[in-house]
Amino acid sequence: MEPREIDDIDLSSCRDEGSFRFSEADVADTDDKAAVAEKAAEPVAAAERLAAVEAGVPEEATDAELLAAPERGSVDELLDAGAHDELDAMRHSTAHVMAEAVLDLFPGAKLGIGPAVADGFYYDFDLPRAPTSEDLEAIEARMRESIAADHRFERKEVSFDDARAVVEGAGQSYKVEILDDLAARAKAAGEPLPQVTFYEHGPFSDLCRGPHVASTGKIGPFKLLSAAAAYWRGDEKRPMLQRIYGTVWKTEEELKDFLWRREEARKRDHRRLGVQLDLFSFHDVSPAMAFWHPKGQRIWRTLETAMRELQARRGYEEISTPIVVSERLWRQSGHWDLYRENLFIIEADKQLFSLKPMNCPESTFIYRSKRRSYRDFPLRFSEFGRLHRYERSGSLSGLTRVRQFIQDDAHIYVRQDQLMDEIQALLGEVHEAYGWFGLKPRFSFATKPDKAIGDPALWERAERLTMEAFAAADISYQLKPKDGTFYAPKIDIYIDDALGREWQMATIQIDLTMLAERFDLTYDDENGKAVRPVAIHRAIYGSLERFIGILIEHFAGAFPLWVAPVQAVVIPIADRHIPPAQELAGVLRAKGLRVEVDGSDSRMQNKIRLAQEQKVPYMLVLGDREIEGRTAAPRTRAGEQQPPEGWEALADRLAAEAAARGA
Ligand SMILES: [Zn+2]
Ligand SMILES: [Zn+2]
Repeated sequence: MEPREIDDIDLSSCRDEGSFRFSEADVADTDDKAAVAEKAAEPVAAAERLAAVEAGVPEEATDAELLAAPERGSVDELLDAGAHDELDAMRHSTAHVMAEAVLDLFPGAKLGIGPAVADGFYYDFDLPRAPTSEDLEAIEARMRESIAADHRFERKEVSFDDARAVVEGAGQSYKVEILDDLAARAKAAGEPLPQVTFYEHGPFSDLCRGPHVASTGKIGPFKLLSAAAAYWRGDEKRPMLQRIYGTVWKTEEELKDFLWRREEARKRDHRRLGVQLDLFSFHDVSPAMAFWHPKGQRIWRTLETAMRELQARRGYEEISTPIVVSERLWRQSGHWDLYRENLFIIEADKQLFSLKPMNCPESTFIYRSKRRSYRDFPLRFSEFGRLHRYERSGSLSGLTRVRQFIQDDAHIYVRQDQLMDEIQALLGEVHEAYGWFGLKPRFSFATKPDKAIGDPALWERAERLTMEAFAAADISYQLKPKDGTFYAPKIDIYIDDALGREWQMATIQIDLTMLAERFDLTYDDENGKAVRPVAIHRAIYGSLERFIGILIEHFAGAFPLWVAPVQAVVIPIADRHIPPAQELAGVLRAKGLRVEVDGSDSRMQNKIRLAQEQKVPYMLVLGDREIEGRTAAPRTRAGEQQPPEGWEALADRLAAEAAARGA
């Protein structure tokens, strides 16, 4: 299922990007099979609901929107082949060919569903045993025969009763269930039994809505990737099926490139590197909430410090608001009605509270704590807010989908005449911050949707000013007409990581009415008249958890010097070199560098290997000669040997390199 577009600044962390999905098959190699099944089947429902709350879509419209994506485990989902373009149609067609091969090799196998997914396809089978890698090879070989035979895909429309008789006669009980669900739904709606389509190729026929390629010969180079357990309809009370994943492309080149990216992504997987580099862990006492180890926390603080420094320079005022907030506020904001099942609810003093899922409403209390004048603006309230959202797929370990995260959030209140300057400055902030990591942000600008609220003239003005801000900042962007939220034009920020995967990062929303109206914010204009400010919601990193997860994968754990949790390791050759090594570490630490001394009894080569595995930027080996001259010859993690330098000069150089925040 495709994750749906989500409209809110505060949701970046909830979003499962398409690009992340391509490692779905990799995930399948882990032992958390149930979680994998759930991940594959689950839409980003919580995020959608929150988006609906944020977007303030009228309730009816919201329901309609939610229905637009087939509901999890619904009969529509089961019948959706995921074939929405030509490549997907080929992928889904390959799933049919795989099912043909599996039936051939495992007579009596029962078929679940086999849609196209990002980068490939899968099919769920009820098999007597889990398929081995030899089985996958045999299935592939059998598939090649079917492709060589170039069977045509023939669409056949049959009556419901005939279809049911066919699948029942074939012993395909899961398909019978799908048909019975269709019938039950038709009956409930007072409609006649629907016509049903089959697609046949060669000896194989499958209940399916299509579409497919013309014939099996049109299927490109493919490979089966893995097999993993998956519950029927994503329901742990239902039978456990075997899901076989495969990938197929138009050219050998694309297939090779994909397999390389997949292997590289596996190596860079932040969950794997998080353990290897001792950055964070997850524990089932707090599902889907990260425990930050000292080194992970150093990264965290480093990013936070850099953002605080930027914000101080830009005139932000940092605030901090409570995490536990009365239901009264969430009723006012609309979350209580639409988003309640995703709130962590607490009872105290005979009242209900929830852990905050976002910071927006609380900043308004600080706004309203005094009378505001047109002279006070821009008013930039930043907050590293700790947010909690109850996500169903909480059993997944990983930083990109968590139930607790911290955002570098800000709510900026401006007068309309300040909008353009402020947006231009925000674009500059984004450029600066992403530049620290060597990332080039790309922007899209989404304009007024049809169901927008608020003054059309204000919309027109805000959109024009935003475009002028882009022009003034000399930044290009992709226009997304009618794609804004109902209350705000918005700017989305994207990056491509080192593997060419696109990530949607943070969002800037120019909130024309929502916060100001719903929370009754005003200021006194030049004539003493109370008017509404414009509120800009912005986060630059978005969720720090997610941002760090992406950084880990982008850099494959080899962080730039300024981010690296350990920037240098001093390696004494013999025990007698340990005290001078401590002294060198002290010289470096005095310049603010994060330094460790490897005083273990391992051999020097082992110490170097360990530091390399830990991706420490600099290794400083100390022996008699270096100590005598108070020098050190840095060795980089890439293996480059640099010339010896005096300790103080080295400390100054590394400190300057770190302070420059280059990637
Ligand atoms: Zn099909
Ligand atoms: Zn906000």
